[in-house]
Amino acid sequence: MSNALYERLAARLGPKGYSTDPDVIAPHLIEWRKRYLGETPFMALPASTAEVSDVVKLCAEAGAAITPQGGNTGLVGAQIPKGEVLVSLTRMNAIRSVDPIDDALTAEAGVILHNVQQAAKDADRLFPLSLASEGIATIGGLISTNAGGVHVLRYGMMRELVLGIEAVLPDGRVWSGLSSLRKDNTGYDLKQLFIGAEGTLGIVTAATLKLYARPRAHEVALANVPSPEHGLALLHRVKAATGALSAFEIMDRLSVALVAKNVPSARDPMPEAPYMALLEFEAATAEGLRERIEATLSDAIEAGEASDVLMAENEAQARAFWGVREAVAAGHRAEGAQVNHDISVPVSMTPTFIARAAAAVEKAAPGSRIVAFGHMGDGNLHYTVLHREGSDPALFPGPALTAIINELTVSLGGSISAEHGIGVARIGDFNRFKDPSAIAMMRAVKGALDPKRIMNPRALFA
Ligand SMILES: Cc1cc2nc3c(=O)[nH]c(=O)nc-3n(C[C@H](O)[C@H](O)[C@H](O)COP(=O)(O)OP(=O)(O)OC[C@H]3O[C@@H](n4cnc5c(N)ncnc54)[C@H](O)[C@@H]3O)c2cc1C
Repeated sequence: MSNALYERLAARLGPKGYSTDPDVIAPHLIEWRKRYLGETPFMALPASTAEVSDVVKLCAEAGAAITPQGGNTGLVGAQIPKGEVLVSLTRMNAIRSVDPIDDALTAEAGVILHNVQQAAKDADRLFPLSLASEGIATIGGLISTNAGGVHVLRYGMMRELVLGIEAVLPDGRVWSGLSSLRKDNTGYDLKQLFIGAEGTLGIVTAATLKLYARPRAHEVALANVPSPEHGLALLHRVKAATGALSAFEIMDRLSVALVAKNVPSARDPMPEAPYMALLEFEAATAEGLRERIEATLSDAIEAGEASDVLMAENEAQARAFWGVREAVAAGHRAEGAQVNHDISVPVSMTPTFIARAAAAVEKAAPGSRIVAFGHMGDGNLHYTVLHREGSDPALFPGPALTAIINELTVSLGGSISAEHGIGVARIGDFNRFKDPSAIAMMRAVKGALDPKRIMNPRALFA
Protein backbone atom coordinates (compact mmCIF):
# COMPACT_ATOMS: atom_id res chain seq x y z
CA MET A 1 0.00 0.00 0.00
CA SER A 2 1.49 3.32 -1.01
CA ASN A 3 1.79 6.65 0.76
CA ALA A 4 0.35 8.20 -2.38
CA LEU A 5 -2.93 6.47 -1.55
CA TYR A 6 -3.00 7.95 1.97
CA GLU A 7 -2.28 11.38 0.51
CA ARG A 8 -5.18 11.03 -1.93
CA LEU A 9 -7.50 9.79 0.83
CA ALA A 10 -6.43 12.63 3.15
CA ALA A 11 -6.99 15.23 0.42
CA ARG A 12 -10.48 13.87 -0.27
CA LEU A 13 -11.53 13.56 3.40
CA GLY A 14 -10.07 16.74 4.90
CA PRO A 15 -8.46 17.03 8.35
CA LYS A 16 -11.50 15.76 10.30
CA GLY A 17 -11.98 12.83 7.97
CA TYR A 18 -8.94 10.70 8.77
CA SER A 19 -6.22 9.98 11.29
CA THR A 20 -2.67 8.70 11.08
CA ASP A 21 -2.02 9.41 14.78
CA PRO A 22 -1.15 6.07 16.47
CA ASP A 23 -2.73 7.24 19.75
CA VAL A 24 -6.03 8.05 18.05
CA ILE A 25 -6.02 4.82 16.05
CA ALA A 26 -4.93 2.56 18.96
CA PRO A 27 -8.39 1.93 20.53
CA HIS A 28 -9.64 0.76 17.13
CA LEU A 29 -6.95 -1.92 16.93
CA ILE A 30 -7.90 -3.98 19.96
CA GLU A 31 -11.23 -5.68 20.49
CA TRP A 32 -13.37 -6.04 23.56
CA ARG A 33 -11.97 -9.38 24.74
CA LYS A 34 -8.42 -8.28 23.89
CA ARG A 35 -7.90 -11.37 21.74
CA TYR A 36 -7.09 -9.59 18.47
CA LEU A 37 -4.51 -6.90 18.07
CA GLY A 38 -4.38 -5.02 14.78
CA GLU A 39 -2.29 -2.52 12.91
CA THR A 40 -2.88 0.14 10.29
CA PRO A 41 -1.18 3.38 9.35
CA PHE A 42 -4.43 5.00 8.17
CA MET A 43 -7.94 5.34 9.56
CA ALA A 44 -10.54 6.93 7.31
CA LEU A 45 -13.43 8.66 9.07
CA PRO A 46 -15.89 9.48 6.27
CA ALA A 47 -18.93 11.58 7.21
CA SER A 48 -21.15 10.89 4.18
CA THR A 49 -22.03 8.17 1.69
CA ALA A 50 -20.26 10.17 -1.04
CA GLU A 51 -17.07 10.18 1.04
CA VAL A 52 -17.31 6.42 1.70
CA SER A 53 -17.80 5.90 -2.03
CA ASP A 54 -14.69 7.94 -2.88
CA VAL A 55 -12.61 6.19 -0.19
CA VAL A 56 -13.56 2.79 -1.63
CA LYS A 57 -12.92 3.96 -5.22
CA LEU A 58 -9.45 5.25 -4.31
CA CYS A 59 -8.61 2.04 -2.43
CA ALA A 60 -9.93 -0.12 -5.27
CA GLU A 61 -7.82 1.80 -7.83
CA ALA A 62 -4.75 1.28 -5.63
CA GLY A 63 -5.64 -2.37 -4.96
CA ALA A 64 -5.65 -1.61 -1.22
CA ALA A 65 -7.80 -3.66 1.12
CA ILE A 66 -10.33 -2.18 3.56
CA THR A 67 -11.58 -3.19 7.01
CA PRO A 68 -14.89 -1.53 7.92
CA GLN A 69 -15.51 -0.83 11.60
CA GLY A 70 -18.45 0.45 13.64
CA GLY A 71 -18.47 0.27 17.44
CA ASN A 72 -15.70 -2.36 17.62
CA THR A 73 -17.79 -4.72 19.78
CA GLY A 74 -17.65 -7.66 17.35
CA LEU A 75 -16.54 -10.86 19.06
CA VAL A 76 -14.83 -12.68 16.18
CA GLY A 77 -12.10 -10.20 15.27
CA ALA A 78 -13.34 -9.17 11.80
CA GLN A 79 -13.36 -5.44 12.54
CA ILE A 80 -9.67 -5.33 13.46
CA PRO A 81 -7.37 -4.37 10.54
CA LYS A 82 -4.05 -6.06 9.86
CA GLY A 83 -2.49 -3.45 7.60
CA GLU A 84 -5.71 -2.71 5.66
CA VAL A 85 -7.16 0.80 5.50
CA LEU A 86 -9.49 1.06 8.49
CA VAL A 87 -12.79 2.70 7.56
CA SER A 88 -14.59 3.78 10.72
CA LEU A 89 -18.23 4.68 10.17
CA THR A 90 -18.62 6.43 13.52
CA ARG A 91 -19.02 9.91 11.97
CA MET A 92 -21.99 8.74 9.90
CA ASN A 93 -24.29 9.08 12.88
CA ALA A 94 -27.44 10.83 11.64
CA ILE A 95 -30.94 9.46 11.95
CA ARG A 96 -32.29 10.49 8.57
CA SER A 97 -35.99 9.92 9.23
CA VAL A 98 -38.52 8.38 11.61
CA ASP A 99 -41.91 7.55 10.15
CA PRO A 100 -44.48 6.22 12.63
CA ILE A 101 -47.09 5.65 9.91
CA ASP A 102 -44.78 3.50 7.79
CA ASP A 103 -43.32 2.09 11.02
CA ALA A 104 -39.85 2.76 9.63
CA LEU A 105 -36.68 4.55 10.74
CA THR A 106 -33.73 5.32 8.50
CA ALA A 107 -30.36 5.59 10.25
CA GLU A 108 -26.80 5.96 9.03
CA ALA A 109 -24.38 3.12 9.64
CA GLY A 110 -22.57 4.74 12.57
CA VAL A 111 -25.66 5.39 14.70
CA ILE A 112 -25.39 3.60 18.05
CA LEU A 113 -28.21 1.13 18.72
CA HIS A 114 -29.27 2.89 21.92
CA ASN A 115 -29.86 6.10 19.93
CA VAL A 116 -32.07 4.24 17.45
CA GLN A 117 -34.07 2.74 20.33
CA GLN A 118 -34.44 6.22 21.84
CA ALA A 119 -35.49 7.84 18.54
CA ALA A 120 -38.13 5.15 18.11
CA LYS A 121 -39.31 5.71 21.68
CA ASP A 122 -39.52 9.48 21.11
CA ALA A 123 -41.93 8.71 18.26
CA ASP A 124 -43.87 6.34 20.55
CA ARG A 125 -42.63 3.31 18.62
CA LEU A 126 -40.34 0.40 19.46
CA PHE A 127 -37.14 -0.80 17.82
CA PRO A 128 -36.87 -4.18 19.54
CA LEU A 129 -33.24 -5.23 19.01
CA SER A 130 -31.60 -5.35 22.45
CA LEU A 131 -28.19 -6.62 23.51
CA ALA A 132 -25.62 -5.85 26.19
CA SER A 133 -23.44 -3.86 23.76
CA GLU A 134 -26.31 -1.56 22.70
CA GLY A 135 -24.58 1.56 24.09
CA ILE A 136 -21.64 1.10 21.67
CA ALA A 137 -22.60 -1.20 18.76
CA THR A 138 -23.65 0.57 15.56
CA ILE A 139 -26.33 -0.11 12.98
CA GLY A 140 -23.72 -0.96 10.31
CA GLY A 141 -22.01 -3.48 12.60
CA LEU A 142 -25.29 -4.96 13.84
CA ILE A 143 -26.40 -5.48 10.23
CA SER A 144 -23.04 -6.86 9.16
CA THR A 145 -23.07 -9.42 11.98
CA ASN A 146 -26.85 -10.06 11.82
CA ALA A 147 -26.98 -9.45 15.57
CA GLY A 148 -29.43 -11.34 17.76
CA GLY A 149 -29.78 -10.47 21.44
CA VAL A 150 -32.55 -11.12 23.92
CA HIS A 151 -35.74 -10.49 21.93
CA VAL A 152 -35.19 -12.87 19.04
CA LEU A 153 -37.95 -15.24 20.10
CA ARG A 154 -40.51 -12.44 19.61
CA TYR A 155 -39.03 -10.14 16.94
CA GLY A 156 -36.31 -12.13 15.17
CA MET A 157 -32.67 -11.23 14.48
CA MET A 158 -31.42 -8.10 12.71
CA ARG A 159 -32.23 -9.82 9.41
CA GLU A 160 -35.95 -9.61 10.24
CA LEU A 161 -35.67 -5.98 11.30
CA VAL A 162 -34.10 -4.47 8.17
CA LEU A 163 -36.38 -3.17 5.40
CA GLY A 164 -33.77 -1.57 3.17
CA ILE A 165 -30.05 -0.90 2.87
CA GLU A 166 -27.78 1.69 1.25
CA ALA A 167 -24.30 0.32 0.63
CA VAL A 168 -21.07 1.18 -1.14
CA LEU A 169 -19.97 -1.71 -3.33
CA PRO A 170 -16.33 -2.85 -3.56
CA ASP A 171 -15.76 -0.75 -6.70
CA GLY A 172 -17.12 2.39 -5.02
CA ARG A 173 -20.57 2.42 -6.65
CA VAL A 174 -23.45 3.32 -4.31
CA TRP A 175 -26.40 0.92 -4.15
CA SER A 176 -29.47 2.83 -2.94
CA GLY A 177 -31.65 0.08 -1.56
CA LEU A 178 -33.37 2.10 1.18
CA SER A 179 -37.05 1.30 1.33
CA SER A 180 -39.84 0.98 3.88
CA LEU A 181 -41.75 -1.56 1.78
CA ARG A 182 -42.97 -4.72 3.51
CA LYS A 183 -43.74 -6.29 0.16
CA ASP A 184 -41.37 -6.21 -2.81
CA ASN A 185 -41.04 -9.34 -4.91
CA THR A 186 -38.92 -7.93 -7.72
CA GLY A 187 -36.17 -10.50 -7.93
CA TYR A 188 -33.42 -11.32 -5.46
CA ASP A 189 -33.67 -9.67 -2.05
CA LEU A 190 -30.21 -8.08 -2.32
CA LYS A 191 -30.19 -6.45 1.12
CA GLN A 192 -29.97 -9.95 2.62
CA LEU A 193 -26.52 -10.34 1.04
CA PHE A 194 -25.16 -7.55 3.22
CA ILE A 195 -26.82 -8.77 6.43
CA GLY A 196 -24.31 -11.03 8.17
CA ALA A 197 -21.66 -10.46 5.47
CA GLU A 198 -19.18 -9.11 8.05
CA GLY A 199 -18.08 -6.33 5.71
CA THR A 200 -16.91 -8.71 2.98
CA LEU A 201 -19.26 -7.49 0.22
CA GLY A 202 -19.29 -3.73 0.71
CA ILE A 203 -19.79 -0.99 3.27
CA VAL A 204 -23.29 -0.46 4.65
CA THR A 205 -23.82 3.31 4.87
CA ALA A 206 -27.48 3.47 5.99
CA ALA A 207 -30.49 1.26 6.63
CA THR A 208 -34.24 1.51 6.96
CA LEU A 209 -35.34 -0.39 10.06
CA LYS A 210 -38.67 -1.84 11.10
CA LEU A 211 -40.54 -0.26 14.01
CA TYR A 212 -43.26 -1.78 16.15
CA ALA A 213 -46.06 -0.59 18.40
CA ARG A 214 -44.71 0.28 21.82
CA PRO A 215 -45.78 -2.23 24.44
CA ARG A 216 -47.62 -0.52 27.30
CA ALA A 217 -47.07 -3.30 29.83
CA HIS A 218 -43.90 -5.01 30.85
CA GLU A 219 -43.23 -7.73 33.44
CA VAL A 220 -40.07 -9.59 34.44
CA ALA A 221 -39.78 -12.78 36.48
CA LEU A 222 -37.10 -15.15 37.70
CA ALA A 223 -37.80 -18.85 38.06
CA ASN A 224 -35.92 -21.53 39.97
CA VAL A 225 -35.83 -24.36 37.44
CA PRO A 226 -34.78 -27.87 38.51
CA SER A 227 -33.31 -28.88 35.12
CA PRO A 228 -33.10 -27.82 31.45
CA GLU A 229 -35.97 -30.25 30.64
CA HIS A 230 -38.13 -28.42 33.18
CA GLY A 231 -36.97 -25.13 31.64
CA LEU A 232 -38.12 -26.30 28.21
CA ALA A 233 -41.54 -27.29 29.57
CA LEU A 234 -41.81 -23.92 31.33
CA LEU A 235 -40.88 -22.08 28.12
CA HIS A 236 -43.54 -23.94 26.15
CA ARG A 237 -46.16 -23.28 28.82
CA VAL A 238 -45.55 -19.52 29.18
CA LYS A 239 -45.37 -18.98 25.39
CA ALA A 240 -48.69 -20.69 24.83
CA ALA A 241 -50.57 -19.46 27.90
CA THR A 242 -49.56 -15.79 27.99
CA GLY A 243 -48.96 -14.93 24.33
CA ALA A 244 -46.73 -12.17 25.70
CA LEU A 245 -43.30 -13.74 26.19
CA SER A 246 -40.53 -11.52 24.79
CA ALA A 247 -37.41 -13.10 26.34
CA PHE A 248 -36.54 -16.41 27.97
CA GLU A 249 -32.97 -16.66 29.22
CA ILE A 250 -31.40 -19.54 31.12
CA MET A 251 -28.43 -19.52 33.50
CA ASP A 252 -26.91 -22.56 35.16
CA ARG A 253 -25.79 -22.54 38.80
CA LEU A 254 -22.15 -21.73 38.06
CA SER A 255 -23.07 -18.80 35.75
CA VAL A 256 -24.86 -17.06 38.60
CA ALA A 257 -22.42 -18.12 41.34
CA LEU A 258 -19.54 -16.57 39.38
CA VAL A 259 -21.49 -13.32 38.94
CA ALA A 260 -21.92 -13.17 42.72
CA LYS A 261 -18.24 -14.03 43.22
CA ASN A 262 -16.57 -11.80 40.64
CA VAL A 263 -18.88 -8.87 39.89
CA PRO A 264 -18.77 -6.22 42.60
CA SER A 265 -22.19 -5.35 44.08
CA ALA A 266 -23.91 -8.27 42.31
CA ARG A 267 -25.86 -10.78 44.35
CA ASP A 268 -27.35 -14.17 43.67
CA PRO A 269 -31.15 -13.83 43.86
CA MET A 270 -31.79 -17.60 44.06
CA PRO A 271 -28.72 -19.32 45.55
CA GLU A 272 -30.48 -22.67 45.72
CA ALA A 273 -31.58 -22.73 42.03
CA PRO A 274 -29.87 -25.42 39.88
CA TYR A 275 -30.93 -23.37 36.83
CA MET A 276 -32.44 -19.92 36.81
CA ALA A 277 -34.73 -18.72 34.03
CA LEU A 278 -35.31 -15.05 33.37
CA LEU A 279 -38.65 -14.36 31.70
CA GLU A 280 -39.76 -11.08 30.18
CA PHE A 281 -43.28 -10.31 29.00
CA GLU A 282 -44.65 -7.44 26.91
CA ALA A 283 -48.22 -6.57 25.95
CA ALA A 284 -50.18 -3.75 24.39
CA THR A 285 -52.14 -3.31 27.60
CA ALA A 286 -51.51 -4.03 31.27
CA GLU A 287 -55.07 -5.24 31.67
CA GLY A 288 -54.98 -8.77 33.02
CA LEU A 289 -51.32 -9.32 32.06
CA ARG A 290 -49.84 -9.76 35.52
CA GLU A 291 -52.73 -11.97 36.62
CA ARG A 292 -52.29 -14.14 33.50
CA ILE A 293 -48.56 -14.48 34.11
CA GLU A 294 -49.00 -15.26 37.82
CA ALA A 295 -51.65 -17.89 37.08
CA THR A 296 -49.40 -19.49 34.43
CA LEU A 297 -46.36 -19.53 36.71
CA SER A 298 -48.39 -20.98 39.54
CA ASP A 299 -49.54 -23.79 37.18
CA ALA A 300 -45.87 -24.30 36.28
CA ILE A 301 -44.94 -24.64 39.95
CA GLU A 302 -47.75 -27.14 40.45
CA ALA A 303 -46.46 -29.13 37.45
CA GLY A 304 -42.95 -29.11 38.94
CA GLU A 305 -41.48 -27.07 36.06
CA ALA A 306 -40.34 -24.42 38.53
CA SER A 307 -39.92 -24.68 42.27
CA ASP A 308 -40.04 -20.99 43.01
CA VAL A 309 -40.74 -17.75 41.14
CA LEU A 310 -39.93 -14.09 41.84
CA MET A 311 -41.96 -11.46 39.98
CA ALA A 312 -40.28 -8.04 39.72
CA GLU A 313 -42.34 -5.60 41.77
CA ASN A 314 -41.04 -2.49 40.04
CA GLU A 315 -38.73 -1.28 37.26
CA ALA A 316 -35.67 -1.20 39.56
CA GLN A 317 -36.16 -4.85 40.47
CA ALA A 318 -36.73 -5.78 36.83
CA ARG A 319 -33.44 -4.08 35.96
CA ALA A 320 -31.69 -5.90 38.83
CA PHE A 321 -32.93 -9.27 37.49
CA TRP A 322 -31.63 -8.38 34.02
CA GLY A 323 -28.42 -7.14 35.62
CA VAL A 324 -27.59 -10.67 36.79
CA ARG A 325 -28.07 -12.06 33.28
CA GLU A 326 -26.03 -9.28 31.68
CA ALA A 327 -23.17 -9.82 34.14
CA VAL A 328 -22.74 -13.52 33.37
CA ALA A 329 -20.00 -12.97 30.75
CA ALA A 330 -18.06 -10.70 33.12
CA GLY A 331 -18.57 -13.21 35.95
CA HIS A 332 -16.62 -16.03 34.37
CA ARG A 333 -14.14 -13.99 32.31
CA ALA A 334 -12.11 -13.60 35.53
CA GLU A 335 -11.78 -17.38 35.99
CA GLY A 336 -8.72 -18.00 33.81
CA ALA A 337 -8.32 -20.58 31.05
CA GLN A 338 -11.60 -21.15 29.20
CA VAL A 339 -13.20 -21.74 25.84
CA ASN A 340 -16.39 -19.89 24.88
CA HIS A 341 -18.95 -21.06 22.36
CA ASP A 342 -21.95 -19.39 20.75
CA ILE A 343 -23.97 -22.33 19.49
CA SER A 344 -27.59 -22.86 18.54
CA VAL A 345 -29.69 -26.01 18.35
CA PRO A 346 -33.40 -26.45 17.75
CA VAL A 347 -35.13 -25.17 20.91
CA SER A 348 -36.42 -28.69 21.65
CA MET A 349 -32.80 -29.94 21.70
CA THR A 350 -31.42 -27.52 24.30
CA PRO A 351 -31.73 -30.00 27.23
CA THR A 352 -30.17 -32.77 25.12
CA PHE A 353 -27.29 -30.48 24.19
CA ILE A 354 -26.67 -29.45 27.81
CA ALA A 355 -26.69 -33.07 29.07
CA ARG A 356 -24.57 -34.53 26.26
CA ALA A 357 -22.08 -31.67 26.27
CA ALA A 358 -21.56 -31.99 30.04
CA ALA A 359 -20.90 -35.74 29.71
CA ALA A 360 -18.52 -35.29 26.78
CA VAL A 361 -16.58 -32.48 28.49
CA GLU A 362 -16.26 -34.48 31.73
CA LYS A 363 -14.90 -37.44 29.76
CA ALA A 364 -12.37 -35.35 27.83
CA ALA A 365 -11.24 -33.04 30.65
CA PRO A 366 -12.47 -34.32 34.03
CA GLY A 367 -13.29 -31.66 36.59
CA SER A 368 -13.67 -28.86 34.03
CA ARG A 369 -16.30 -26.35 35.08
CA ILE A 370 -19.23 -25.54 32.80
CA VAL A 371 -20.99 -22.23 32.41
CA ALA A 372 -24.12 -22.80 30.31
CA PHE A 373 -26.33 -19.78 29.77
CA GLY A 374 -28.06 -17.82 27.05
CA HIS A 375 -31.13 -17.35 24.95
CA MET A 376 -32.90 -20.67 25.55
CA GLY A 377 -36.08 -19.22 24.01
CA ASP A 378 -34.44 -19.26 20.57
CA GLY A 379 -32.07 -22.22 21.08
CA ASN A 380 -28.87 -20.13 21.41
CA LEU A 381 -26.54 -21.02 24.26
CA HIS A 382 -23.29 -19.33 25.21
CA TYR A 383 -21.49 -22.42 26.41
CA THR A 384 -18.20 -21.93 28.22
CA VAL A 385 -15.85 -24.54 29.64
CA LEU A 386 -13.47 -23.38 32.39
CA HIS A 387 -10.34 -25.22 33.45
CA ARG A 388 -10.55 -27.38 36.60
CA GLU A 389 -9.85 -25.28 39.70
CA GLY A 390 -6.26 -25.72 40.80
CA SER A 391 -5.18 -27.27 37.47
CA ASP A 392 -2.43 -25.87 35.26
CA PRO A 393 -4.22 -23.55 32.77
CA ALA A 394 -1.48 -24.29 30.22
CA LEU A 395 -2.68 -27.90 30.07
CA PHE A 396 -6.32 -26.96 29.44
CA PRO A 397 -7.33 -28.72 26.19
CA GLY A 398 -9.40 -25.81 24.83
CA PRO A 399 -9.31 -26.60 21.08
CA ALA A 400 -10.15 -30.28 21.70
CA LEU A 401 -13.15 -29.27 23.81
CA THR A 402 -14.31 -26.84 21.13
CA ALA A 403 -14.16 -29.64 18.55
CA ILE A 404 -16.31 -31.82 20.84
CA ILE A 405 -18.87 -29.05 21.37
CA ASN A 406 -19.03 -28.23 17.67
CA GLU A 407 -19.45 -31.86 16.64
CA LEU A 408 -22.25 -32.36 19.14
CA THR A 409 -23.95 -29.14 18.01
CA VAL A 410 -23.90 -30.13 14.36
CA SER A 411 -25.08 -33.68 15.17
CA LEU A 412 -28.16 -32.13 16.81
CA GLY A 413 -28.92 -30.01 13.73
CA GLY A 414 -27.37 -26.87 15.19
CA SER A 415 -25.00 -24.07 14.19
CA ILE A 416 -21.46 -23.48 15.46
CA SER A 417 -22.05 -19.71 15.39
CA ALA A 418 -25.52 -18.57 16.35
CA GLU A 419 -25.03 -14.82 16.51
CA HIS A 420 -21.40 -13.69 16.63
CA GLY A 421 -20.40 -14.74 13.10
CA ILE A 422 -17.25 -16.30 11.64
CA GLY A 423 -14.87 -13.35 11.33
CA VAL A 424 -11.26 -14.42 11.58
CA ALA A 425 -11.83 -16.45 14.77
CA ARG A 426 -13.92 -19.30 13.37
CA ILE A 427 -12.69 -19.81 9.81
CA GLY A 428 -11.32 -23.28 10.59
CA ASP A 429 -14.61 -24.44 12.11
CA PHE A 430 -16.56 -22.78 9.28
CA ASN A 431 -14.60 -24.75 6.68
CA ARG A 432 -14.98 -27.94 8.66
CA PHE A 433 -18.67 -27.78 9.53
CA LYS A 434 -20.40 -25.67 6.87
CA ASP A 435 -21.88 -27.47 3.89
CA PRO A 436 -19.28 -27.26 1.05
CA SER A 437 -21.99 -26.27 -1.47
CA ALA A 438 -22.95 -23.36 0.76
CA ILE A 439 -19.32 -22.22 0.98
CA ALA A 440 -18.97 -22.54 -2.81
CA MET A 441 -22.06 -20.33 -3.35
CA MET A 442 -20.71 -17.77 -0.87
CA ARG A 443 -17.37 -17.72 -2.69
CA ALA A 444 -19.20 -17.21 -5.99
CA VAL A 445 -21.09 -14.21 -4.55
CA LYS A 446 -17.84 -12.79 -3.13
CA GLY A 447 -16.06 -13.27 -6.45
CA ALA A 448 -18.88 -11.59 -8.39
CA LEU A 449 -19.16 -8.52 -6.16
CA ASP A 450 -15.55 -8.17 -5.03
CA PRO A 451 -13.28 -9.71 -7.67
CA LYS A 452 -10.24 -7.79 -6.35
CA ARG A 453 -10.94 -9.09 -2.81
CA ILE A 454 -10.50 -5.71 -1.21
CA MET A 455 -13.44 -5.82 1.22
CA ASN A 456 -12.38 -7.29 4.56
CA PRO A 457 -10.33 -9.98 2.81
CA ARG A 458 -9.31 -11.88 5.96
CA ALA A 459 -12.87 -12.37 7.23
CA LEU A 460 -15.02 -15.42 6.49
CA PHE A 461 -12.74 -16.95 3.85
CA ALA A 462 -9.11 -17.82 4.49
C1 LIG B 1 -20.79 -6.99 25.91
C2 LIG B 1 -21.18 -7.51 24.57
C3 LIG B 1 -22.39 -8.16 24.42
C4 LIG B 1 -22.77 -8.65 23.17
N1 LIG B 1 -23.98 -9.28 23.04
C5 LIG B 1 -24.38 -9.73 21.85
C6 LIG B 1 -25.63 -10.38 21.69
O1 LIG B 1 -26.37 -10.59 22.64
N2 LIG B 1 -25.98 -10.76 20.45
C7 LIG B 1 -25.19 -10.55 19.37
O2 LIG B 1 -25.58 -10.92 18.26
N3 LIG B 1 -23.97 -9.97 19.48
C8 LIG B 1 -23.56 -9.55 20.69
N4 LIG B 1 -22.33 -8.95 20.81
C9 LIG B 1 -21.48 -8.78 19.64
C10 LIG B 1 -21.53 -7.38 18.99
O3 LIG B 1 -22.09 -6.41 19.82
C11 LIG B 1 -22.27 -7.42 17.71
O4 LIG B 1 -21.55 -8.23 16.85
C12 LIG B 1 -22.49 -6.05 17.04
O5 LIG B 1 -23.40 -6.30 16.02
C13 LIG B 1 -21.25 -5.41 16.44
O6 LIG B 1 -21.51 -4.04 16.13
P1 LIG B 1 -20.31 -2.99 16.00
O7 LIG B 1 -20.85 -1.71 15.52
O8 LIG B 1 -19.54 -2.95 17.26
O9 LIG B 1 -19.47 -3.67 14.85
P2 LIG B 1 -17.88 -3.90 14.73
O10 LIG B 1 -17.41 -4.72 15.86
O11 LIG B 1 -17.19 -2.63 14.52
O12 LIG B 1 -17.84 -4.77 13.40
C14 LIG B 1 -18.38 -6.05 13.35
C15 LIG B 1 -18.32 -6.58 11.91
O13 LIG B 1 -19.12 -5.77 11.06
C16 LIG B 1 -18.31 -5.16 10.05
N5 LIG B 1 -18.84 -3.81 9.90
C17 LIG B 1 -18.99 -2.85 10.84
N6 LIG B 1 -19.60 -1.79 10.33
C18 LIG B 1 -19.82 -2.05 9.03
C19 LIG B 1 -20.43 -1.34 7.96
N7 LIG B 1 -20.94 -0.12 8.13
N8 LIG B 1 -20.49 -1.93 6.75
C20 LIG B 1 -19.98 -3.17 6.53
N9 LIG B 1 -19.40 -3.89 7.51
C21 LIG B 1 -19.33 -3.33 8.75
C22 LIG B 1 -16.88 -5.23 10.56
O14 LIG B 1 -15.95 -5.25 9.50
C23 LIG B 1 -16.94 -6.57 11.30
O15 LIG B 1 -16.86 -7.61 10.38
C24 LIG B 1 -21.92 -8.48 22.06
C25 LIG B 1 -20.68 -7.84 22.22
C26 LIG B 1 -20.31 -7.36 23.45
C27 LIG B 1 -18.99 -6.66 23.59
